Amino acid sequence: MNRSTALPPTVSSPVAPSLSAPSVAGSWPSRLGMPRWSLWVLVVGLVVTLLGTLVWLASRYEVTQLQSRLDQDATEAQGNLRALLSRNVQSLQALHFNRPTPGSWSQEAAEVLRQHRELLRLEWRDDALRTVASADTPFLPPVFDRLGRDRAQAGIELACATAQRLGVPAYASSYFVPQYSGMGLEVMDLCLPLVERGQTTGYLVAVYGLNGLLAELFAPRLRADLAVSFTEADGTRLAVHGLPNPGQRVFTAQQLMDLPGQAMVLRLDSWRDGPDLFPNLLTALVSAMSLALLAVLALLGHDMRRRLRAEHDLADALAFRKAMEDSLVTGLRARDLQGRITYVNPAFCSMVGFEAHELLGSKAPAAYWPTEQQSEYQRRHDIRMAGQMPPREGFESVFMRKDGTRFPVLIIEAPLINAAGAQTGWMSACLDLSAQRRTEELSRTRQERLQATARLAMVGEMASLLSHELNQPLAAISSYASGSLNLLERAQQEPLNAPAQSSLAEAVQRIAGQAERAGKIIKSVHDFVRRRDQDRAAVAPHALLDAVMPLASLQARKLGVRVVTDCPTDLPHVLCDRTMVEQVLLNLVRNGMQAMDLPAEPSAAPAPALADRTLHIGVGRVPDTEAVAFSVADAGQGISEAVAAQLFTPFFTTKAEGMGLGLSLCRTVVEQHGGQLSFARREPRGTVFTFTLPLAKAG
Ligand code: ADP
Repeated sequence: MNRSTALPPTVSSPVAPSLSAPSVAGSWPSRLGMPRWSLWVLVVGLVVTLLGTLVWLASRYEVTQLQSRLDQDATEAQGNLRALLSRNVQSLQALHFNRPTPGSWSQEAAEVLRQHRELLRLEWRDDALRTVASADTPFLPPVFDRLGRDRAQAGIELACATAQRLGVPAYASSYFVPQYSGMGLEVMDLCLPLVERGQTTGYLVAVYGLNGLLAELFAPRLRADLAVSFTEADGTRLAVHGLPNPGQRVFTAQQLMDLPGQAMVLRLDSWRDGPDLFPNLLTALVSAMSLALLAVLALLGHDMRRRLRAEHDLADALAFRKAMEDSLVTGLRARDLQGRITYVNPAFCSMVGFEAHELLGSKAPAAYWPTEQQSEYQRRHDIRMAGQMPPREGFESVFMRKDGTRFPVLIIEAPLINAAGAQTGWMSACLDLSAQRRTEELSRTRQERLQATARLAMVGEMASLLSHELNQPLAAISSYASGSLNLLERAQQEPLNAPAQSSLAEAVQRIAGQAERAGKIIKSVHDFVRRRDQDRAAVAPHALLDAVMPLASLQARKLGVRVVTDCPTDLPHVLCDRTMVEQVLLNLVRNGMQAMDLPAEPSAAPAPALADRTLHIGVGRVPDTEAVAFSVADAGQGISEAVAAQLFTPFFTTKAEGMGLGLSLCRTVVEQHGGQLSFARREPRGTVFTFTLPLAKAG
């Protein structure tokens, strides 16, 4: 794994590969060399063909079903017809059982005709085929009235000859009999030989109406979608029963009626009510399933599109996240619950100088732990792995670069939670503090330099004070010295008397006294300038005051100001950098004195009378807090609002020889000690500056 694809395993493993693919949309179909849509067209085409075939097969099946049912009907009808005809033959033969007379025969024949509507006429003929008796159907006007019976004679003779030859009833060819109504009937003659003791005594000729035969065959009622007919072998229609239904789909079944002496075809035509979209349940089922399949395909397509979009979005989000991680200057490091490094970002790698592959998978001790602190880091690491939460604001530590250099870091750690809400490790953000430390160091040095400058400026001021102050002892020394010289010159001429000797001794003592005083003055300044205790220590408040008083008095004397101090000796110690606080104190005292010395502006209140030029320095405990307050109150001209707004701004000054650094440094120093510096108006005139310092903790 290289650096650019090093992603945390919790999120990267399922999706990371798609990141490296050139395009998510063009993955597998384009690998096959076809665009994605062509595959879809192929799939849809195949499914449509499959479904079409299924529907076609289903309808074919249904057609076959219909056809075979019709064939069955035709066979059944054929059987029924045969049965009907043979039943009729028996009924007809029964007419001659009792040797009828022509009269009785006619009666019985009329009865038979009433029972059998398909029979149009019965004739009893003698052996020469002459009519003995006849009867017509009561349901129609006499059928042969218009054309007579002679036309059929040849057919009857043929049929009777056939019947006699075969010994069974025989049928003559059918023929058309026109009627008075303008219509006509297709009829067929049946010849039944009457045999008595082996001798043919005559014939019974029955005339069947083919229409009536069909009606009787399909009694009581013909199905609406069916038409039955007798046709000749060449398809010529002889008789039809039922209405043909043109324009609709026709199924036809035919059965040959092979009767003795006559052959014709029984034909059944069945009409469907138009071409059905769903001809039967199977087709409907297949069609419904096909539609469902198409719907599922459409849904799948939709789902696929959504997935693709989601994949795109995810890839975008990952690319965005990666760009974000790569551009981060904060180092990121993830560790699993066993402490193995599972992820580092480029910033972390460049921070510690190791490549990602050198760090990934490594366990404690990490390569970037400083060797001398490994045991300490190991302890901290163990505590973290035991599940203890790190401080929210982070903690400071030191890392080691590959080249061995150490650098400070701020580490902020948080538990790594996966999508299921379970902790999978720890995520750390590491900030390199080197630059920050350098800046802090720089600003500290600058601050110190500023303070030193301020101190030197103050020393400059002191120098003028010194010259003024040293004038007195030096003048005194000089006059004592010249007095002493005079006495010594006199001593060369005459020995000195006792009073002269004692005045000489006194003069020398005075010289020594004045020299010591001058020395003290110089030392107090020297001490102030030179002393530089860096460390904070517990100091008694009055000790701070005592340290600045010699210098304060010097200035007070010069400016004609009275200094009054109020500092109980039993105050608790404060924790401070002594030199700095002394400087603060001295600065405030000096400012206060100078404020009282300034010539009054025309608009300002007049300068206080000499008696009122008193500077109060007070020290006391701040009630209810662990602090001591130092206050310096003057009776000067006060601070205008314009000045107050800029009081603590460095280099702001209203004095000709001022540097404007005093108060800004004072505030910095006090705040560094954890205290506060403030000022307030003093009544009736002047200003009070107050600053606090925290108490030194006992022990
Ligand atoms: P500097 O004393 O060198 O001017 P400071 O920072 O000590 O610098 O003081 C800034 C300014 O604040 C002074 O120039 C002065 O105008 C004003 N100031 C400071 N202390 C007092 C005071 N006790 N009374 C009135 N004005 C003051």
